[in-house]
Amino acid sequence: MEIKNIAVIGGGTMGNGIVHVFALAGFKTLLVEVKQEFADRAMAAIKRNLERQLAKNVIAKEKMDSAIADIKTSVKLEDAADSDLVIEAVYEDMNAKMDIFKRLGGLTKPEAILATNTSSLSITQLASATPKPEKVIGMHFMNPVPMMKLVEVVRGLFTSDETCAAVKNLCLKLGKEPHETKDYPGFIANRLLMPMINEACYALMEGVAAKEDIDKIMELGMAHPMGPLTLADLIGLDVCLAIMETLEQGFSDSKYRPCPLLRKMVEAGRLGRKTGQGFYDYRKK
Ligand code: NAD
Repeated sequence: MEIKNIAVIGGGTMGNGIVHVFALAGFKTLLVEVKQEFADRAMAAIKRNLERQLAKNVIAKEKMDSAIADIKTSVKLEDAADSDLVIEAVYEDMNAKMDIFKRLGGLTKPEAILATNTSSLSITQLASATPKPEKVIGMHFMNPVPMMKLVEVVRGLFTSDETCAAVKNLCLKLGKEPHETKDYPGFIANRLLMPMINEACYALMEGVAAKEDIDKIMELGMAHPMGPLTLADLIGLDVCLAIMETLEQGFSDSKYRPCPLLRKMVEAGRLGRKTGQGFYDYRKK
């Protein structure tokens, strides 16, 4: 089956980036949100990011215009019924995702591939909510999606070779580089990254160093493009907390316990860039 029509469920930080790259690669792309105002907000972000790429001569004006024309928005999951590939990118919450997979399993074509952008949750469990687990796979894009080359392609226990090959091929068409992992908590990217971010939160909480110094030590000393606390703000502190909880529960190992400061920041609603404040203040910029 040739993959032509894409639907992305959720138009937040990741969802709007995923829609952006598919539309730019010439795919008809549907963005499904819970409210029209959220879909409009996602469209505005996509247009802003495309205009930024235009200003930097990364894309031509015609390419930007055709990408925008290829995107449709909806607030009804049923509108994804004709899609060849559906990518779920809602909150990192198993119940919310299970509900969507259950509904998608009932309304999409039998040959459709159902993917999730989850950072850490079980692909195998999500697949169990559908009638065709062989068609379910993880497509873990990185943030910001238009800039980052990697897609971590995660095989659930029953994902077929055919589904995996089709998704990897699609990633190449987007100009991305797919790398395959098995379905264990956090896969590879977040199993390695999140404990580092969590440890940076502990170091800050214990007063070992100031946030700016923690970040600069990792930037200058380890050649990281940004420090762990700046990166946590970019990812979203709620997302970081949810991933640490998944690692702790999934491995039944207290070495992954989330830092209390990370938890407090989430309780305070300071989720990072998306709320204007996290470890740093973005409101004036
Ligand atoms: P986000 O909070 O920015 O966006 C989630 C969006 O989903 C919101 O706009 C919300 O309105 C929408 N939504 C919620 N329920 C919905 C439903 N039933 N139907 C349609 N839309 C719905 O979250 P995010 O950072 O974009 O993360 C999305 C997923 O991507 C999560 O699984 C996360 O773990 C993963 N991820 C995040 C990052 C990151 O850096 N933020 C990186 C890789 C993967």
